[in-house]
Amino acid sequence: MQGVDPELGSRVRRLVGEYGVVRDSINAALAFLPDAAADLAEFPSETERVQELDGACRELIDMLHAADARAESLTALHRSIADGRCTEPAETYEKSVGAALSRYDAQTTRQKYARNKSYIEFRSRVWEVQGEGAMPPLTDAIPAEPGDDGNDSDELEIGGAHIDYRCPLTAALLVDPVINSACAHAYSREAVLQYIASAQQNMVRAKCPAAGCTENLSARSLREAPDLRRRVERGVALR
Ligand SMILES: [Zn+2]
Repeated sequence: MQGVDPELGSRVRRLVGEYGVVRDSINAALAFLPDAAADLAEFPSETERVQELDGACRELIDMLHAADARAESLTALHRSIADGRCTEPAETYEKSVGAALSRYDAQTTRQKYARNKSYIEFRSRVWEVQGEGAMPPLTDAIPAEPGDDGNDSDELEIGGAHIDYRCPLTAALLVDPVINSACAHAYSREAVLQYIASAQQNMVRAKCPAAGCTENLSARSLREAPDLRRRVERGVALR
């Protein structure tokens, strides 16, 4: 362990803990944004403010990623100091953080945000106020950039037919799917049960949330989809 200050290991470990605090603060801000945006979205005059919050949401997601990259690099550094393998801690750390940050920067807007839970939540809340019907998946809503090769959707080719494995409610891959007998659209079970319950609470008839579909939807029209579940699980494993 030539040249490495023996105190360094514990200082590094403390820093990892501090990034945990940073992470909590960023998450707290992220949790607050969707409500704020949904309130503003009620007013057409506040469109620009909603856009600003959209930008802020993406920035916070970037910050969270950067904090994670630093915490992970520090954790690895701590391990290599403890093992006595580390001779140049500052260089090792900078190099590892730099590599993680440039990998992230190289991603397209879609790759960074379209499947990010916080961003989906943000856009969904604004959509609930401003949009009509089910929100299109963000992989479609965010314009393609060079690097988005069009193979980014969750469509897998099965027997020559493209089947969409995304839930129209969550915009994410189906989880524990069930099928509406009325139209054969599939949804994630938990999401569709919540959707039906909230329609009941509002005393409106639930309609299928799939784009362009107007069929009715109720707990009684749902059927199990063991085949689809297997295909989804296999599809996830292939990715
Ligand atoms: Zn449908």
